[in-house]
Amino acid sequence: MAGNFFNVECPDCENEQIVFGKAASEVACEVCGHTLARPTGGKAAIEGEVLETVEAR
Ligand SMILES: [Zn+2]
Repeated sequence: MAGNFFNVECPDCENEQIVFGKAASEVACEVCGHTLARPTGGKAAIEGEVLETVEAR
């Protein structure tokens, strides 16, 4: 199964950013640097609000 991408809203600055669902390293907000996802060994833990799931294709 291919990993999904998530459209995540930063809780600090409301920037919307696409985050890979299986990110292998921390993903920071491009605007304010807030951590949006951190690796957990499998699926990434999403720290912001997931607005929608974007299917990989
Ligand atoms: Zn931000």
